[in-house]
Amino acid sequence: MAVDPEGSVAKLKGIGPKLQETLGRLGIFRLLDLLIHLPTRYQDRSQLIPLGELRSGDEAFVEGVILGSKITFGRGRGLEVLIGDGQRELRLRFFHFNKGQQRAFEDGKHIRAFGSVTFIGRHLAMAHPEYQVFDAPPGPPKPELIPVYPTTQGLSQARLRTLTKALQQLDWPKAPGTPFEKLLYLHRPDDLARAEEISEALALDELCAYYVVMKRRALKRRKQQAIALPQKDGLDRTLRDNLAFELTDAQRRVIRETLTDLENDVPMLRLVQGDVGSGKTIVAAFAAIRAIEHGCQTAVMAPTELLAEQHQLNFQQWLEPLGIQVALLTGQMTAKSQRETLQRIASGEVQVIIGTHALFQDKVVFHKLALAIIDEQHRFGVHQRMALQHKGAYPHQLVMTATPIPRTLTMTLYADMDVSAIDELPKGRRPITTHTAAQPKRPELIERLRKILAQGQQAYWVCTLIEPSEEIEALSAEEAFDLLRRDLPEFRVALLHGRMKGDEKVEVMRAFKAGEYQLLVATTVVEVGVDVPNATQMFIENAERLGLAQLHQLRGRVGRGSKASRCFLLFKPGVSQAGQHRLNALRQSQDGFYLAEQDLKLRGPGDILGTRQSGEQSFKIADLSEHAHLMPRVVQRCETMMNAAPASNDGIYLTGLLNTWAASDNAHLSV
Ligand code: ADP
Ligand code: MG
Repeated sequence: MAVDPEGSVAKLKGIGPKLQETLGRLGIFRLLDLLIHLPTRYQDRSQLIPLGELRSGDEAFVEGVILGSKITFGRGRGLEVLIGDGQRELRLRFFHFNKGQQRAFEDGKHIRAFGSVTFIGRHLAMAHPEYQVFDAPPGPPKPELIPVYPTTQGLSQARLRTLTKALQQLDWPKAPGTPFEKLLYLHRPDDLARAEEISEALALDELCAYYVVMKRRALKRRKQQAIALPQKDGLDRTLRDNLAFELTDAQRRVIRETLTDLENDVPMLRLVQGDVGSGKTIVAAFAAIRAIEHGCQTAVMAPTELLAEQHQLNFQQWLEPLGIQVALLTGQMTAKSQRETLQRIASGEVQVIIGTHALFQDKVVFHKLALAIIDEQHRFGVHQRMALQHKGAYPHQLVMTATPIPRTLTMTLYADMDVSAIDELPKGRRPITTHTAAQPKRPELIERLRKILAQGQQAYWVCTLIEPSEEIEALSAEEAFDLLRRDLPEFRVALLHGRMKGDEKVEVMRAFKAGEYQLLVATTVVEVGVDVPNATQMFIENAERLGLAQLHQLRGRVGRGSKASRCFLLFKPGVSQAGQHRLNALRQSQDGFYLAEQDLKLRGPGDILGTRQSGEQSFKIADLSEHAHLMPRVVQRCETMMNAAPASNDGIYLTGLLNTWAASDNAHLSV
């Protein structure tokens, strides 16, 4: 009898409750989940590499005779097995091992091992290789492509391989067009080129499934009822007249597009893309005014407390002169002031409510919510479902992101949204000159900084860690704070990081903005929303540890005033090639769209979409850094298909994958 792909994975032989739980951590619950848990790559074990030809960094399949083994006591107890092939020696090192394993490494026996080669001093070594011991010289290896899976603690590759091998024995439904055979092949291919072809075909299927789900979602949303917000009192004109600056043409266009959407009772879902500093916040303010003119409320969601507080200041400055009440709601507020704020929200006394995730709590009940604005949407993760408690009408949504996503991706990934781009920076912005420097150059940079600070300008010094770490070699914010206070005693230096209390953070930011501190040492909490035009110098420690998008965001904290700005990317010597490419790309370009394309090439889209931060996986098969070129085909294929059967998308051959997408409901934010 054909197996049910939706059936529990526990139906496979050898899966007990413990393993089931471990698999659950990988999102594997059903047999289908295991089937689409595909290898990220394959090990080529067709060729043995002589030990004399190994280079550091190689992943290699090797063979030798065991020359000896011993327990070592370095950083923790270890087992070291020395092997040789007559040419050269190699140390196999194990940090988790048992007695039986230890005994099996008998001198004179033959061994085959697969792993990554490193140098320890002058010695070649391989840590935790996969291996097999033989009594006599084994014959030539049989050519095999061994799958390597994404895994989690407590689940070995070998175990996963056994499980996916067991999948091969099941009787999968054989209806034409079902992808099961293709998926099974990818677990045990015999030809790499064919595996790639199949994986691309499946990626196309998956992207199509996603696209269709997005489009269906948009259709469903359009059937909902929102509050129509036609043009009214002209408060927006007052705001424009009060502004200290002229709106850019791009801002005007995006405001117009947004306000036009709001005139309808069809719920808006508009994504505003605009590079750091392009001025998205004021666009949001114009949208908020429109809702308020109709006696409705606007919620503004920010990913961090710091950004929420910055927004509060901006919105107050813009809107309070118009008689509009702005409130802040965050998780760090005292219970009492939270209660009071909740009360003012429920009664409709405040019209603009700015907050963090705290806005999603059940107890937040709006009086009359017409518009939800989600800022820095990428930081929430694409797939996070956000539900605001609202009564009656469905709110319009304005989603803002500083991560410029390449257009090819936007078409598919945001297929359920309308997209506006602020593709112009305010006039008078000076370009930011970007330099890269190895950390030993730090003293020279500090001297340079001294001169700039003496001229009355301000600076950020950003670190990737709060305090020193045993595992990660990087200068922490606490260390940098001590160092810079010591080296620059004539200036006032402040420290800001995410573990500080909310009001402490606010006070530090206020004082820095007011010029009471000249130098702000911070973690990446300053990545979004911090706006101090007099700060012209940005130093980023261990820039090699950060992604392009994040570095670009951080750099965007300077270059906000009329003075020339500089950004210094400090890196640890010995940075990887990919790391060097990233830093060079930043030095060469300040164009967020260009950098996004580069990021996609260098790292994959995890960071662009924020999935990495939120720990979610976006696609099972498709890898956007590899398959971006499929997007036009996705759109074309799906549009044709949906036009052919507009009422229902039945009959599509997208198979179980579509159900997987739909069932997991892991598409965009939906309010
Ligand atoms: P982002 O798009 O990164 O969110 P913000 O909305 O924080 O950018 O705007 C960055 C800074 O530029 C703010 O100080 C804002 O007041 C200012 N700003 C916005 N629009 C303009 C403009 N048209 N001209 C000059 N400054 C502007
Ligand atoms: Mg912003």
